[in-house]
Amino acid sequence: MKGHIDTDFDRGHIWHPYTSMRDPLPVYPVARASGVTIELEDGRKLVDGMSSWWAAVHGYNHPVLNHAVTRQLDSMSHVMFGGLTHEPAVKLAGQLIELTPEPLQKVFFSDSGSVSVEVAIKMALQYWQAAGLSRKRRLLTVRSGYHGDTFGAMSVCDPDTGMHSLFTGMLAEQLFAEAPQCGFDAAWNENGIEDLHQKLRQHHEAVAAVIIEPVVQGAGGMRFYSPHYLIRLRELCDEYGVLLIFDEIATGFGRTGKMFALEHAGVVPDIMCVGKALTGGYMTLAATLAADHVADTISSAEPGLFMHGPTFMANPLACSVASASIDLLCSRDWEQEVQDIQGALQDGLSPCSRFSGVHDVRVLGAIGVVELCQPVDMAAVQNFFVERGAWVRPFGRLIYLMPPFIISPSEMVILTRAVRDAVRLIAS
Ligand SMILES: *Cc1c(COP(=O)(O)O)cnc(C)c1O
Repeated sequence: MKGHIDTDFDRGHIWHPYTSMRDPLPVYPVARASGVTIELEDGRKLVDGMSSWWAAVHGYNHPVLNHAVTRQLDSMSHVMFGGLTHEPAVKLAGQLIELTPEPLQKVFFSDSGSVSVEVAIKMALQYWQAAGLSRKRRLLTVRSGYHGDTFGAMSVCDPDTGMHSLFTGMLAEQLFAEAPQCGFDAAWNENGIEDLHQKLRQHHEAVAAVIIEPVVQGAGGMRFYSPHYLIRLRELCDEYGVLLIFDEIATGFGRTGKMFALEHAGVVPDIMCVGKALTGGYMTLAATLAADHVADTISSAEPGLFMHGPTFMANPLACSVASASIDLLCSRDWEQEVQDIQGALQDGLSPCSRFSGVHDVRVLGAIGVVELCQPVDMAAVQNFFVERGAWVRPFGRLIYLMPPFIISPSEMVILTRAVRDAVRLIAS
């Protein structure tokens, strides 16, 4: 029977992420979502294993977050941020400054993670222009990274799994070092950063900044690496006079077991991007934080202005719900929640490592990854999970879980059992 949502129209007219318009993979119509449950139009209920791509840390339809949006709606949903300001933006900026390391004191709000990365890149470029070193305009990064889909962000995504070959000649040519090789818990070995060190030695006069996702490389391969890498990276950036940008868009707000992944290393970047879970997954909002010296330098030379200003900058609805989401997170024992999820992921996923088609099983905080030897058949695996009452969306060779922090132990069992069953089917 046909539901209310016209999936034929959807198929014929609406682009979904990274899909073909001629032969799109099936999409499942959702009627509502609440707590950790996504309810399909046909009544099937799925336990959410994805947090809608790192974002919905409190689950869906949370009364506190709903209230924040509706309360704000009563006073104003939006006003331009040029020449005006408002309580939601001022409050949220204060919270972000409080929550992040002390040197990060300046906040630039934008619409999405990708845009916050563009803003970070622009800050780094304007910084060196203002400092009279405009030849420093390339970025150095590591392979297997992901920083978003706009042009500046794409230019620092992994050159093989990213979109470089599609847009050669249009993308800025950045410098790539080997991805961090030293595992999260592995003993540190200086060889682990030698390639990046070498690139800095050779190119530092042309490099504006190093950009990296701290500790967890997300969409570029779900890789975890040693926090010690970041300690050495900070030292090298200082030694060679290069700014350091941390992209915490995926890792921020507790996902790795710390409020921000940089806390695993105790390292402070010059510029930092947050997004995704910033609004608890309610709507799109991101922020780029900068240290005083970055803002002061940009402001000290002509034109003295930082040249960016999105139409919906600091949208009051988004800022209000972000404020409420941060308060909500801090009001709960989220560290314990994430630790419990980590334990459940370890227990539930580690049996997968005995299958011959499994390359690696790894868990950090509320992130669990089963890396297979071969890419999965997305449509088939997706359907398998839906049949088992789980919302899990693999990509490439990766089947992974990153559930909302409010998930219960029995819901965790539904997710990990479904993953084990899927892996047994495809990889034994
Ligand atoms: C998702 C993501 C982005 C891009 O954010 P959008 O909101 O999708 O533009 C950038 N960096 C990292 C690390 C991400 O995970």
